[in-house]
Amino acid sequence: MNNDELWQSALGELELTLSKANFTTWFKNTSISSFEKNNIIIAVPNAFTKSWLEQKYNEEIKKTLQKLTGQPLLGLIYKVEPRYSLNTNIVIIKDSQINPSDTVVPEQKRDRLNKFGLNPKYIFDTFIVGKSNELAHAACQAVAARPGKAYNPLFLYGGVGLGKTHLLHAVGHELLKKNPETKILYLTCERFVTEYTNAIRLKKMKEFKDKYRGVDLLLVDDIQILTGKEGTQEEFFHTYNELHQSDRQIIVTCDKAPKEIPGLEERLRSRLEWGMVADISFPDLETRVAILQSKCQEKKYNMDRRILQYIAANIQSNIRELEGVLTKIIAYHQLRNAAPSFETIKNIVSGFAPNKTKKNITTKHLINTICDFYNLDTDELFGKTREQRVAWPRQVLMYLMREELNFSFPTIGKEVGGKDHTTVMHACSKIKKAMEGNVQLKQDLETLKQNVYNSPIL
Ligand code: ADP
Ligand code: MG
Repeated sequence: MNNDELWQSALGELELTLSKANFTTWFKNTSISSFEKNNIIIAVPNAFTKSWLEQKYNEEIKKTLQKLTGQPLLGLIYKVEPRYSLNTNIVIIKDSQINPSDTVVPEQKRDRLNKFGLNPKYIFDTFIVGKSNELAHAACQAVAARPGKAYNPLFLYGGVGLGKTHLLHAVGHELLKKNPETKILYLTCERFVTEYTNAIRLKKMKEFKDKYRGVDLLLVDDIQILTGKEGTQEEFFHTYNELHQSDRQIIVTCDKAPKEIPGLEERLRSRLEWGMVADISFPDLETRVAILQSKCQEKKYNMDRRILQYIAANIQSNIRELEGVLTKIIAYHQLRNAAPSFETIKNIVSGFAPNKTKKNITTKHLINTICDFYNLDTDELFGKTREQRVAWPRQVLMYLMREELNFSFPTIGKEVGGKDHTTVMHACSKIKKAMEGNVQLKQDLETLKQNVYNSPIL
């Protein structure tokens, strides 16, 4: 067995014992650089990976190599050899040595969209897979391997900033890689609505239809905005049928499951459920660390492991925010030419943490968001009915008033139409309990919270 074969076998074994997110992040681009007299040197792409492997996986790696070679290892050393870094154009920069022109310019270049509207950074290689997104990721890969055949349509849903758009683009890139002639159309649903309205106004329906119905892969982002737009829904329905009948692939994303989109025509809803519906939920700590590490590599920034852990532990919901923190830290570093202190980092993180924004929301805001989400009007929510369809959102409202606004039980009772404080207490503990075993509910509540904090204050 040569060094390559030995390392491949070792990776094969290690992969079985680690989570996917960990394996991908820490073992990507590693190799055996030398094996002499029972001493092995492992080449790793950067200092960060080196310290992580030394501290967390050394024993595991050692045991595996000993088992495979059948000999005791005297030494196991990790050595940084940057040629194996993630992107070929990345140069690993030493801690606290960021050169602004290095980071900023290529970053802007890489951000540019290609002619199909696909962001070159959003590819499978840069997508970290963890429990929260493995189904969606696997479904996207299956679709990329057999477009129009594996799952058609593919419906991805989940809260803000969890990687839906990233995956959508990744499928586009993958198909283009296989066949550069593939006709791909990526757009936000908002754009679809605008183009449709313009086409009617300017009497250009034929051009509109030709454009959408002539593609091999249609990627439509954020279709929740179809809510209540009957004309556009109808057109979307026909586009869907036309593409689907000729086995052309459709992927859509949404912030909620098909059955939860209010004001969506039944026939369209059922079509959207025909293929595969895959959710993306909030990543666990391990996955967040892995994502942050991968973003650091992408931005050529070396960050202390403890700081990385701190950020990932404190930004708990949204990956876009994780990136936002990183961008701020890099900007700070560039402007002052020195790494920010831990105090500064804490300040940056708290600027993104939810309790900062909590102050800004009001009861009215919460009520409107809940009514929107569950498709109710305010009168119904505060009415007398005990139907589950209304009673449940009402309890969710009480729970969120308690958790997000820190209101007392009697105050909540008053606000929701003169309910006794024991009713409120019961509602809050009921929701809390229900969440323990119900991932979907947890996710719904996170989405609701994000909607509350992300939408404009009324
Ligand atoms: P959504 O469309 O769900 O709101 P995006 O796809 O725009 O979210 O993701 C927000 C940011 O987070 C993007 O920069 C994306 O690259 C990043 N991101 C999300 N999930 C992952 C992941 N699993 N691995 C790496 N980056 C991710
Ligand atoms: Mg998106």
